Amino acid sequence: MDCQHIVNRIYDQIVQLEDRGAVASYIPELAKVDPKQFGVCLTTKDGKQHSSGDTQVLFSIQSVAKVLSLSLVLSKIGDDLWKRMDFEPSGSAFNSLVQLESENGIPRNPLINAGAIVVCDIICSLYENPKDELLEYLRFVSGIKDLTYSKDIALSEQQTGYRNYALVNFIKSFGNIKNDCETVIDLYFHLCSIEMTCEQLSYTFGFLSNQGKQLLTQKEIVTPNQAKRINAIMQTCGFYDEAGEFAFKVGLPGKSGVGGGIVAVLPNAYTIATWSPSLNKHGNSYRGMQFLEAFTTATQDTVF
Ligand code: GLU
Repeated sequence: MDCQHIVNRIYDQIVQLEDRGAVASYIPELAKVDPKQFGVCLTTKDGKQHSSGDTQVLFSIQSVAKVLSLSLVLSKIGDDLWKRMDFEPSGSAFNSLVQLESENGIPRNPLINAGAIVVCDIICSLYENPKDELLEYLRFVSGIKDLTYSKDIALSEQQTGYRNYALVNFIKSFGNIKNDCETVIDLYFHLCSIEMTCEQLSYTFGFLSNQGKQLLTQKEIVTPNQAKRINAIMQTCGFYDEAGEFAFKVGLPGKSGVGGGIVAVLPNAYTIATWSPSLNKHGNSYRGMQFLEAFTTATQDTVF
């Protein structure tokens, strides 16, 4: 298939449609982004990239980073992770507290806020300087030597993240947070503050299309079995309460973030990152969803 041709054709088609989404404003720093930006980058397993639009602009990857913290923890503690959380879809909003009450502080999965906060707690237990070690890991996986946290975004979240503070305290009340709540939530906000371009994000997630090995270098990020599990969790839990619809319409594992980024993976073939800041009512990028649906409809290359 001529990837560049299909990427360009579908990009041109989607960019002409009315964007009916809205930029996330509950994190004030995210509301400053120009909503008209739109980029798409497909990276094949052999490392070739096919881009269209604003693919070299840095944006806040937000919850897409939860897949990377999950990869770190899985590679360090393996299946012990599942003593602290489950791997089932939640069917609730990403920042919901509801299920935690009846499920005794055990988050439904590592890709909702509650689960990612417990993942951050595990990182705090693993390392003396968790923020530095996490950043080192993210630099390693992405291959971006000067990757750094966005202080402005982390601060903006800190000032408005009432639900996330509630979550960490609530989970701690069940004994499923081992470290100081302030340290854990600070790491979580920094994780969400990471910025990448579409091209960088697409390359970074390449290991999930390559049996756990980094593209180009072939260094192991996670085992093939762990890559399979991460893809499975993205498929069932990667799109808030729209995961079923994403599977139905797009048919690929993936993860979205409220910064408007989406990454989708076709194992053993490619990763594709889209970025358009306006979100639909479920919190997923309006144009990103449209692009990916049109893309897999045109290629008929999906996991189904
Ligand atoms: N930092 C965001 C929050 O916790 C992440 C939301 C998201 O991208 O799903 O609210």
